[in-house]
Amino acid sequence: MSRHDRRRFRHQVSGAGLLTYLVSPTDPRLGDVPLLGRAARWWTYCLPNALPPRSCMLCKRSLRCEQDVGLVLLSMPAAPTTCVAYVGLCLDCYRDADWVRIEAACIAALQEVLPAGKFS
Ligand SMILES: [Zn+2]
Repeated sequence: MSRHDRRRFRHQVSGAGLLTYLVSPTDPRLGDVPLLGRAARWWTYCLPNALPPRSCMLCKRSLRCEQDVGLVLLSMPAAPTTCVAYVGLCLDCYRDADWVRIEAACIAALQEVLPAGKFS
């Protein structure tokens, strides 16, 4: 997310609040929200060539392809938008990490985008 995109995202969230989803990138329910489905597909498609490489929000291991991803945290303003922020959780963390640590990593990732946000 570029600095400009981040600023636009913050502006839209400040007026409407934030919706977040922690799901498999292939979760069929993403089809219910086409913007999220497209964002998840685009994010996973771009993994092999992403610069800088995407990394797991918990263990920081590189995510090089869809098979490396356990879950993806998608967030978007609760208002008409084209902005979706996303970060991945690797398959090993998804299988083995405590849920409390995953939740803490999600909150840390969201606070990177929205430093003044409160998440629970
Ligand atoms: Zn991980």
